[in-house]
Amino acid sequence: MRVRTLTVGLLVGGLALSACGKEGTPGGGGGPSTTAAVEANVDVAGSPTFAKMKSRGGVIVGAKEDQPGLGLKSATTGKYEGFDIEIAKLVAAKLGFAADKITFKTIPSAGREQALVNGDVDYYVGTYTINDNRKKQVSFAGPYFQAGQDLLVRKDDSSITGKDTLKGKKVCSVTGSTPIQRVRDQKLTEASNIVEFQNYSQCVDKLLNKEVDAVTTDDAILKGYAAQDPDKLKVIGQTFSKEPYGIGLPKDDKALRDKVNDILQKAEDDGTWKSVYDGTLGKSGSAATPPPIDRY
Ligand code: GLU
Repeated sequence: MRVRTLTVGLLVGGLALSACGKEGTPGGGGGPSTTAAVEANVDVAGSPTFAKMKSRGGVIVGAKEDQPGLGLKSATTGKYEGFDIEIAKLVAAKLGFAADKITFKTIPSAGREQALVNGDVDYYVGTYTINDNRKKQVSFAGPYFQAGQDLLVRKDDSSITGKDTLKGKKVCSVTGSTPIQRVRDQKLTEASNIVEFQNYSQCVDKLLNKEVDAVTTDDAILKGYAAQDPDKLKVIGQTFSKEPYGIGLPKDDKALRDKVNDILQKAEDDGTWKSVYDGTLGKSGSAATPPPIDRY
């Protein structure tokens, strides 16, 4: 029996992040290192998705590529990194696939359900809120994290202090996301003032060049952008929703969902989750604990 470990992948991810994070010690290799052994002889009986991964000899994971701290494709290495990516790698390892057997595929918010329905990805890890509407088309393991909707504004703008100060302001968010839906449902600004893109980084560009006044989505995402441009951007810091992040799975694959829930539960119990969090998102945020797994 050959057991390989994820140590190298996690360490490299940690170093890449520390290199641009303010607490980083480039080359120091500090911080907790996680060893997620690649499981041998895994079987997930009754899972068509797992059977597909097995026969392919690899995993295809849907992810984001422009969300620092969560899912970011490095411009220099071309590798994906961040909290969601490490969660995806952990799940793959426990399904028997080392990091070099994962192909990450960038799928924007609006394309997630279709990618899972079509079988373009085996599972999806990318700030994906679990909700009943999405459960009509896909299923979710988790949650493995809980975020909340917040606002990103220019640092010198004191006119926006919370969700009830957005009237008359241009508010940017992403197609197919829960935050843009909430702006509409709660009429936080006029319909004509809602600006919509495929990716949050496009909204951030528009905020910086003053074409919009606020970007709204999960606080975890916004904090990543603010950390990249702390002199120009700030997060308001008053969340107004609960966004429990799940791992998106094909709808009818209950066997795989149960297995991934087992993997997440164990990672939370044995400290792996904490190591992954501390090595990624936790570097710029406060300490966090995962919400309870919701099995259905
Ligand atoms: N978590 C929210 C959602 O799933 C916003 C982040 C995103 O668009 O990925 O819609």
